[in-house]
Amino acid sequence: MKPSKNLLFTFDYELFLGRKSGSVEKCMLAPTRQLIGLFERYGITAALFFVDTTYLLKLKEAAKEHPAAKVDFEFIQQQLQELIRKGHLIYPHIHPHWQDATYDAFTNNWSLPSLTYYRFHALQTKEREAVFDASISLLNDIISPVSAYYKIDGYRAGGWCIQPFSDFYPCFKKHGIVYDFSVLPGMKNLSTAQYYDFQVAPSKVYQFETDICQEVEAGSFTEVPISVVPVSSAIEFANKLLLKFLWKTGNRSVGDGSGVVAQVEEKSESIKNRNEMVSIELLTRVKLKVYQNFLRQNTLMHFISHPKMLSAHNFACLELFLKHATKDYEVRTNFRELVKHD
Ligand SMILES: [Zn+2]
Repeated sequence: MKPSKNLLFTFDYELFLGRKSGSVEKCMLAPTRQLIGLFERYGITAALFFVDTTYLLKLKEAAKEHPAAKVDFEFIQQQLQELIRKGHLIYPHIHPHWQDATYDAFTNNWSLPSLTYYRFHALQTKEREAVFDASISLLNDIISPVSAYYKIDGYRAGGWCIQPFSDFYPCFKKHGIVYDFSVLPGMKNLSTAQYYDFQVAPSKVYQFETDICQEVEAGSFTEVPISVVPVSSAIEFANKLLLKFLWKTGNRSVGDGSGVVAQVEEKSESIKNRNEMVSIELLTRVKLKVYQNFLRQNTLMHFISHPKMLSAHNFACLELFLKHATKDYEVRTNFRELVKHD
């Protein structure tokens, strides 16, 4: 019998959040289509897609007036329904700074220059509740025609900003969200946009109640943290050279927007020492061995990736990784096998 491994593939399904959002086709639809095909070939189901519902709510509004926005909304809705039909999962992902995004009908692009509402914390209690309620009901509208029994019980915070958890607690309780996927154990990043400090969070699946970094055995919620892998300076150096070469030869990420520009105020030692999240967009030929070793040494490997960031090179490396993983191990991709059931 082959040893079994839990391999979680999670994605933030979203546009760029800077001055130029990029197009729906390039940032979301095309790379996700490619993922669906690849997962089908390797029998990977139950991948998790965290849908930027704040963007979708904005888009739905714009769709009333602008035909291009209407088309975007319909294509996204169709793709999300296809994901459900193929046995994948969709959950909400909230980026409140869509609140002051502006739409340019001529280019069918959005602009999000202000960081004022980057964090959920920047909203008033009433606004938090309203955006959470609207997010859940929008996803339910999309899911219900294709699945009658689907339960939206998972969440990932935009920009990993899940702290203070007290901001989310009433929303989780109200909507029956019991699984969170936002924590990067050991990492900390305080910037003019983001705020997270997971330095004391356990690097295992754990229960919690009011503090997301504090394990509470009988807690109401379960944290399924994102995997973090150490990358040596030698690997890092070789990777830089490879990325330079890939960039010059046109092997770039598919998305056509621009990201958030924020000033970093404080970062954890672990980030400085090149500990990094496990991610398809960071997976290169140089790091393939590092990822394979990580899988050998751990029973859970939780990837966080962004379709908009993926390049042809990343896809090729993911395919190599999957080829080996499915040959050497019994691969389990459903997160529910990792968590306690009621
Ligand atoms: Zn996001």
